[in-house]
Formats: sequence, C-alpha cells, structure tokens
Amino acid sequence: MIARAAAICEPAKMVREEVSPVVEVPADEAAHRAFRLDNEVLAFRFTATVSDRSGGTPRERLTDPARLSLWLRSAGLDVPGSSRQDLNDAVELREAIYRAGRAIATARDPDLQDVRVLNAAATAGQAKAVLEGDSLHWMLSRTAAVRDALGVLATDAVRVYGTSDRSRVKCCEGKDCMGLFLDTSRGTNRRWCSMNTCGNRAKKSRLTVR
Ligand SMILES: [Zn+2]
Repeated sequence: MIARAAAICEPAKMVREEVSPVVEVPADEAAHRAFRLDNEVLAFRFTATVSDRSGGTPRERLTDPARLSLWLRSAGLDVPGSSRQDLNDAVELREAIYRAGRAIATARDPDLQDVRVLNAAATAGQAKAVLEGDSLHWMLSRTAAVRDALGVLATDAVRVYGTSDRSRVKCCEGKDCMGLFLDTSRGTNRRWCSMNTCGNRAKKSRLTVR
C-alpha cells in the first residue's frame, strides 16, 4: 500500500511552467509570482518549486538558472548568478530532499543514495550565518555561492530529518499537492501544507459538495 502511494508520487510527466517575458518587476514580487513561498521550513519551501506533485502534471518552476537565482534570493541566499550546472545540482538536491521526506512521512527509511546526495551538499557548503540587526544573514563565498546556498538547504533538511522533527514530517493531503510540511500543531493533526492554499481549497470543495 505504501509502495503504491510512493509510485503515485513519482512525477510522471513534468510540465515546465510557461515563463512569461521578462518584465521589470521588483525581485520580491517576481519571486512571489513564480513560486509558492509559504512553507515555514526552508528545505520544504525549496521542494515546493515543483507543485502538483501527485497530480498527472507536476509543474516545474525552476525552469532556468535565472529562476534558481530568483528563488535563492527569496530565501535570503543571494547569489551573483547561476549556471545550467548549478540548476542541475539544485534539482538533484531538491528531489533527494523530497524523496527522503516522502519516505519519512510514510514511515519508510530514505533511500541511501538520496541521503548521500543530501550529506554531500550539506558538507560541501561553506556558508556562514551572522546576525544583522534582528535577522539571520547568510554569507556565501564569492567563488561558489550556489554551492554554499545549496549547502544551507541541505543542512536545513538534515536538521529536520535528523532530529525529533522527523516524526512531524508529513505530505499534504491537498488534491494533487503531496507537498512536504512540518506538522507543529499541538495535536499533530495538520493535514495541509498551507491553510491558505490547499487547506482553503479543501474547505471550499467540501462546501460545494454540500
Ligand atoms: Zn498542499
């Protein structure tokens, strides 16, 4: 049963999201238009750059290196630019984080290869966290900023999967979503990655059925 659920989760045919022509909008606004940025866990917000994972047509939102830079910037990981290879590395890491989380959420052990990818990215990164005013600020190296940024994302996943948070990792029950989230509710009874999107949609469809 669990194996079947995992098979459903495999993206059958990835749809690359249409990228609208470059229009001059502030980076923050562009990121909000391009991505879902509402997941509280950084590593899971990264996995949400593919949406509708369990539907027939998962949508890839990291469509090119510029989109990767835009997402990283929205996460406070400002890189001077990224290459096609950076994008490949990012997608490889993202899918390893997702598959490992999906396994944990369904009470299975993550695949060893995914753990290797996660650990390799976590140890390769050299980012330093500093306090600026009242916020955490990531300092990335000039020569390998994307590697450092991916290290931050991998470390965030390691922190969740390797601590008591592990038992709170869940997959969203929203239609077609299957996004990862951390259930921090007191009764551990949260069902959706976000109340504003999937939770709301479920509520609306229940009302329509009535
Ligand atoms: Zn969801």
